[in-house]
Amino acid sequence: MKVAMMECDIRIKGFVPTTMVDWEGMIASTIFLPGCNFRCPFCHNRDLVLCPDVLETVPLGYLEEFFFERKGWIDGVCVTGGEPCLHSGIVSLLEWIRGLGLKAKMDTNGSFPDVLKSVIECELVDFIAMDIKAPLDAARYRVASGNRDDDLILRVKSSIGIIRSSGIPHEFRTTVVPLIHSPEDVEAIAETIAGDEDYVLQRFSPNHTIDQRFSQIDPYSEEDLKRASELARKHVSRVRVRGAPIQVNPP
Ligand code: SF4
Repeated sequence: MKVAMMECDIRIKGFVPTTMVDWEGMIASTIFLPGCNFRCPFCHNRDLVLCPDVLETVPLGYLEEFFFERKGWIDGVCVTGGEPCLHSGIVSLLEWIRGLGLKAKMDTNGSFPDVLKSVIECELVDFIAMDIKAPLDAARYRVASGNRDDDLILRVKSSIGIIRSSGIPHEFRTTVVPLIHSPEDVEAIAETIAGDEDYVLQRFSPNHTIDQRFSQIDPYSEEDLKRASELARKHVSRVRVRGAPIQVNPP
């Protein structure tokens, strides 16, 4: 049986048919939504954030056909970006995923607590992953996110609280970037989610970054990430490092 075509104006700008790393324990697909209200200098989704129109739109009909043909094989869909909560049609998109008989995971930068609250209240997400870009200090967050909204920290804190009290499986995560974070900063972030079960440190990838100077920066070594993990583990029981193997720029 085929489900009705989604009625919303979201344009999907990327699709990974099968992934076993974007949602732990699940065989999932990932869809990418365009645009973001942040300008993290180390972001490697430059086109998706700055000029999504250059990317081809993935037709919904194609996706419906894909999921229909793999019914029973794909467990769920990861919705990422960009920033999914930026889109007024996010609720319709998640309903569409549910209508296809699939579970839904949503990534967010945590700057839209009201949207987050709605999708949780409507029981449209099975897993939430939220980035915490820096220790929760306005100046530090401004540098890490490139967003200068006065109330940004309040909104990020509000999202952290909403997620922690939601009862929905979740993870908080930080892309650890030299010049932006020290291992002690990672500990400070972990302290703000003390008692939570899961904190993920993502390896920084110096490729196609929004601020091209960050393409010249070598990522942290395994040893540095291990030290940051150990510091974070003082506050959160399960701390993992995730991401592509480290690529070091040639001297
Ligand atoms: S890394 Fe930053 S700029 Fe890039 S998509 Fe995520 S929140 Fe937006």
